[in-house]
Amino acid sequence: MSTIGIHESVGAVFPPESLREALSDVEADLRVVATDDLDDCVSLVTFAYDERFLDADLEWIHSIQAGVDRFPFEALEAGGIALTNSTGIHGDTVGETTLGYMLSFARGLHRYRDHERNHEWSRPPYDRPFSLADASVCVVGLGTLGRGIATRADALGMDVAGVKRTPTPVDGVETVYPAGDLETAIADARFVALAVPLTEETEGLIGAAELEAMRSDAVLINVARGPVVDESALVDALASDAIGGAALDVFETEPLPPGSPLWAMEDVIVTPHVAAATPKYHRRIAALVRENARRHAAGEALTNRVV
Ligand code: NAD
Repeated sequence: MSTIGIHESVGAVFPPESLREALSDVEADLRVVATDDLDDCVSLVTFAYDERFLDADLEWIHSIQAGVDRFPFEALEAGGIALTNSTGIHGDTVGETTLGYMLSFARGLHRYRDHERNHEWSRPPYDRPFSLADASVCVVGLGTLGRGIATRADALGMDVAGVKRTPTPVDGVETVYPAGDLETAIADARFVALAVPLTEETEGLIGAAELEAMRSDAVLINVARGPVVDESALVDALASDAIGGAALDVFETEPLPPGSPLWAMEDVIVTPHVAAATPKYHRRIAALVRENARRHAAGEALTNRVV
């Protein structure tokens, strides 16, 4: 029987034992392992990447995150190690978190919470609160996350546009722009929500020029990866009121350093990379691993394969 290691780093997201129990029906020896204990592992389910993985006898690594930007694709390929990711399972959680950010900005909830700390009964100017039913969102990247955001925004009556590499129609998205038309796509949106993977192409996708192209009351939402946004350009745009606010789950450096100006900005919501959190996370990962363990044993092509 082959051994599937559950790397202790998955503990950053859920208890490793919960995944082991959820996979108890799989015909494999399942062990929670540390990096220096991979000797008999053929497969590894992990959150972290460590270059010592390349020296083990692994045939397949599964990332419990959808984003696999921390993994060295070429080295894995050269080592004959397959890499699979966890895309396809975060549409509802990240969709809800993103709707939560938008509702907070529309109704001003984050500001009331700030005032509550000071026991302050402070009503906003008459024209500040607005309804999402009158607002627009541009979702950049229309994969699992993007569709999860778009369908929920559409259900609340928002005007939904999106950016997609191949601009084919997507349910709930009124206008789909090709990636080359990013600036046009985001120019009229009250909310711009980023849902692309971090790749060479998307690093710095939102920089000074794109922030300049956005409305002065626009809110940038980043649930993708920190480096998709030029963070210092974002801080400048927020500080100079070139845009209206930001809701950020991901950052260039995580945890966000205590000295970051983003912490203290009134119209910035900072969440600690938790947009996809759910007590069902380990079961959703188990479903992906169960299917690929079966395929791996049968010599079939793996699903969600990246390398
Ligand atoms: P996905 O593969 O289902 O969707 C990504 C989509 O982005 C694809 O449709 C792809 O074609 C598109 N895309 C790539 N480059 C683009 C570009 N330049 N312009 C427009 N579209 C482009 O992946 P997903 O599950 O939706 O996750 C997307 C990313 O979000 C992940 O790679 C990960 O980095 C991040 N993520 C973050 C969290 C979180 O907790 N904040 C959770 C899950 C995923």
